[in-house]
Amino acid sequence: MEIVSGGVTDVGRVRTNNEDSFRILEPLNLFILSDGMGGEAHGEVASALAVETIADYCAQPKEDSGVTLAGVAPDNWSADTKRLQNAVSQANFRIYDSAQKNPEQRGMGATLTAAWVNGSKLSVAHVGDSRAYLLRNGALQQLTSDHSLVAEQVRRGILTPQQAEESEMQSVLLRALGAHPEVQVDVDETELFPHDVLLLCSDGLTRMVTEPEIAGTLQAETNPVSAAQKLVDLANERGGLDNVTVIVARVQDESKGWLSWMRRGSAKKD
Ligand code: CA
Repeated sequence: MEIVSGGVTDVGRVRTNNEDSFRILEPLNLFILSDGMGGEAHGEVASALAVETIADYCAQPKEDSGVTLAGVAPDNWSADTKRLQNAVSQANFRIYDSAQKNPEQRGMGATLTAAWVNGSKLSVAHVGDSRAYLLRNGALQQLTSDHSLVAEQVRRGILTPQQAEESEMQSVLLRALGAHPEVQVDVDETELFPHDVLLLCSDGLTRMVTEPEIAGTLQAETNPVSAAQKLVDLANERGGLDNVTVIVARVQDESKGWLSWMRRGSAKKD
């Protein structure tokens, strides 16, 4: 599948440092986003370590993919999905290990949301409260579940979604990279189609901008970098209370590729 993509990160209007990190590996169709936390500048260390570890792991030749962590992935997941899950497990351990060895880094952690497209198959791996969304035929679907206290309370019927949005406990995460030597990583797989748009974002976007606004922006702006920038600008116009990071990846119309191939083919014959 041909995919065009772009990402933007911004410190926002209130914070003095940007603890979000992202990486786009275009040749691999791999998209990684992480939101770091921890005092001083250690949130930045954690999120950078997360995206670098996952990028390096997935970019290795497949035969050198390293250890397969026994029992963490159900057998029905594809090899690529398991590989992405292993990459996230390794990122978790590296952050945990770094904090163990450097006492000033104690308490640092990071969210992680990664999307990897192989052929027409999308693999998603996720820990924390950053999000992945899929826009298909005008409908925006959240692909990930927030591992936050308020999201869990909504799932259990203790809070309404409205109460969750207003809660002072919004930042409390139930799962993050770096807290323990092992972490439970959510993984999912789905089939992608032409015109699908994938969005990864940190909570600095979703706390400032509504889902209908996200869907509208992705539909109105077909250039991925411009769409990401518009969403970041909107979060900042609303106050920019947090760092904000957005990655947009758009699946191209396959028929365009075929048409140009056919045109080239017929041109050669003439
Ligand atoms: Ca954040």
